[in-house]
Amino acid sequence: ATFGNLSDRLSETFKNLRGKGKLSPADVDGTVREIRRALLDADVALDVVKEFTGKVRERALSDEVSKALNPSQQVVQIVNDELVAILGGEARRIQFAKTAPTIIMLAGLQGAGKTTLAGKLAKWLAGQNHTPLLVAADLQRPNAVNQLQVVAQQAGVAIYAPEPGNTGGEEAAPSRGFFGGPKAGDPVKVAKDAVKFAKDKQYDIVIVDTAGRLGVDAELMKQAADIRKAIDPDEVFFVIDAMIGQDAVATAKAFQAGVDFTAVVLTKLDGDARGGAALSVASVTGRPIIFASTGESLDDFEPFYPDRMASRILDLGDILTLIEQAQKNFDEEESMKIAEKFATDSFTLEDFLAQMQQLKKMGSMKAMLGMLPGAKGMREQLDNFDESEITRTEAIIQSMTLAERRTPKLLNGSRRVRIARGSGTTVTEVNALVNRFDQAAKMMKTVAKGGVPNIPGMGPI
Ligand code: GDP
Repeated sequence: ATFGNLSDRLSETFKNLRGKGKLSPADVDGTVREIRRALLDADVALDVVKEFTGKVRERALSDEVSKALNPSQQVVQIVNDELVAILGGEARRIQFAKTAPTIIMLAGLQGAGKTTLAGKLAKWLAGQNHTPLLVAADLQRPNAVNQLQVVAQQAGVAIYAPEPGNTGGEEAAPSRGFFGGPKAGDPVKVAKDAVKFAKDKQYDIVIVDTAGRLGVDAELMKQAADIRKAIDPDEVFFVIDAMIGQDAVATAKAFQAGVDFTAVVLTKLDGDARGGAALSVASVTGRPIIFASTGESLDDFEPFYPDRMASRILDLGDILTLIEQAQKNFDEEESMKIAEKFATDSFTLEDFLAQMQQLKKMGSMKAMLGMLPGAKGMREQLDNFDESEITRTEAIIQSMTLAERRTPKLLNGSRRVRIARGSGTTVTEVNALVNRFDQAAKMMKTVAKGGVPNIPGMGPI
C-alpha cells in the first residue's frame, strides 16, 4: 500500500524505544533522525520534513515527555499529533452554498483522475439525496467529453456537455440525461451556461471538470482561472495523483498561484507509491485534503480523515474505518446477540460459523486484517492468506452435528476423525480450527468485558 514502507520504518523506529523508561536526549535525537530519513525516503518534501521533525524533537525533549508515565508511548503520541497536523488537522467537509446550486470546480494535471473523481463525487452526493449535474468543460482532450458521459451514466447522474456539431443551448435527448451546451471550443462559456442551466432545472450541485495538461503550463492555468472567474465556484478542488512523488509540491504551488483552490483531493492512494505527496501538499499549500480516491471504480472514494490516515501510517490500526465498515455490513441485532454470548461464555461454533459468513460479507479478509493494529507485522502471512481457508473452515463446521457445534467439548478423537472425513479435510485441520475457536472465544470474552485483547504481534509500544 501507499504508506507501507514508511509505516514499516516508523514502526521499526518506535520498536527501539520500547521498554525504555526514560529517554535520553540521545534517544530522542536518534529517533528523530530515523523519522527524518523515513519521511525523506517516502518523498515527503524537505521543508515539510524539517518542520515536522523540528516540532517532534522539541516536544519530545520537553516536560511533556520526561514527566509522562510512559515516555516512549508519549513520543508515538506526539508523532501522531504532528502527522495529523500536517495532514490538515480536522476533517474537512464540502462547504455548500447558501442558495443552490453549490458549484464545485475540479482542477489538476491530465491523468490526475479528475474525470473519474467527477463521477465518484457525483455518485456519492447523489447517494445523499443531492441532484448533481456534471459539466464537461474539458474540451482539450479529444475523448474527455465521452469519458465524462460514460462516468455520468455509471454514476446515474445528469451531464451537461457540448455535443459535437450542436449549435448550442438546446436540450438533447434529456432521457439520457445529456444536455447539449454551446458549440465545442469555449470551455468558459460551457461552464457558465451549465451553471445557468443547473439553476433553471434545479440541480443543487454543479461539478465542473476542466482540462489538464501533462505538465503545468500558462495556457492551462489561464483557462482554469478564467473558468473560475466566470462561475465563481464555492469549492475548487485541486486533484493530485499521490504517485507523482517529488513533483507534487511544485505542481500544487503552481496551481495555487495560477488558479488557487479550496481543498485537495488525493487520487491513486491505492497505488504502490511512496506517498510523500499526501504528506506534503496540505502542509505546503495550507489547504486541507478533503477526499481520497483509492481505485478505478466509482465507489473507491472516501472522505479524508487526517487522524485516521495518521494512525494508519503509524500502524496504530484504522480502527474507526474498520468499525464503520463493520457497522455498514453487520446486522446490529445479530452483533448485540453475539456480544452477549461472548460475555456469558455461551459462544458456540455455530456462532463462529455465522460470524465467518458475516466476515465474508465484509469483503476481502485481507483488506480487513490489514486494518487491524499490528497487522503490518503479519503482512507476509497476509500475503499468503488463502481465502479458501474460510471455505474449508465452513466445511468443517458444517460437518459437525448441532450438538457438537453448540458444545465443542464433545469433540473427542473419533468425532474429529468423522468430521475430517465428512468435510474432506484432515484431523490436523479440525484440531487447528477448534484451537482457533477457543482462542477467539477467549479473546472476545475479554473484549466484551471491556478489556483489551492481546492481539498477536501488537504488544505494548
Ligand atoms: P483526468 O485526466 O484528470 O480526467 O484523469 P482520469 O479521470 O481520466 O484518470 C486517469 C487514469 O487514472 C484513468 O485510467 C483512471 O481510471 C485512473 N484513476 C483515476 N483515479 C484513480 C484511483 O484512485 N486509483 C487508480 N488506481 N486509478 C485511478
